[in-house]
Amino acid sequence: MDNCIFCKIAAKQIPSKIIHEDDDLLVFHDINPAAAVHFLIVPKKHIATLADCTEADGALLSKMSLLAPKLAQQLGCGYSVENGEAKGGFKTLFNTGPDGGQEVYHLHMHVIGGPRPWTRSPV
Ligand code: AMP
Ligand code: ZN
Repeated sequence: MDNCIFCKIAAKQIPSKIIHEDDDLLVFHDINPAAAVHFLIVPKKHIATLADCTEADGALLSKMSLLAPKLAQQLGCGYSVENGEAKGGFKTLFNTGPDGGQEVYHLHMHVIGGPRPWTRSPV
């Protein structure tokens, strides 16, 4: 899509701090992090919002959801239970539309974690 910043990042026309790349997804650090860890899981294919996804995008959405905890673990904000005590963790977030606070109209999952308090509210 012309003039879509995340399409341009996915095409490497605009630089980003890449964490992960595969055939379907690019994952990079958010430029304005809300916490110590804040990255975006972005499909290479342009889809404007979560509300524009169809059944055909089910595998893509599943892939995004399953990748989030793996990368969170790599970046030090994984969720675990140690001696019966829950530790760590992260927030996953899709903003949809103006009332959802969406600023970039190319589907992305925020993954936000790290010790509290965070820099700012992510919503
Ligand atoms: P949303 O409000 O859900 O659309 O979130 C868009 C996110 O994209 C915000 O958290 C921005 O900080 C982030 N963002 C915008 N431009 C860039 C960029 N060039 N590189 C990395 N993150 C960006
Ligand atoms: Zn796009």
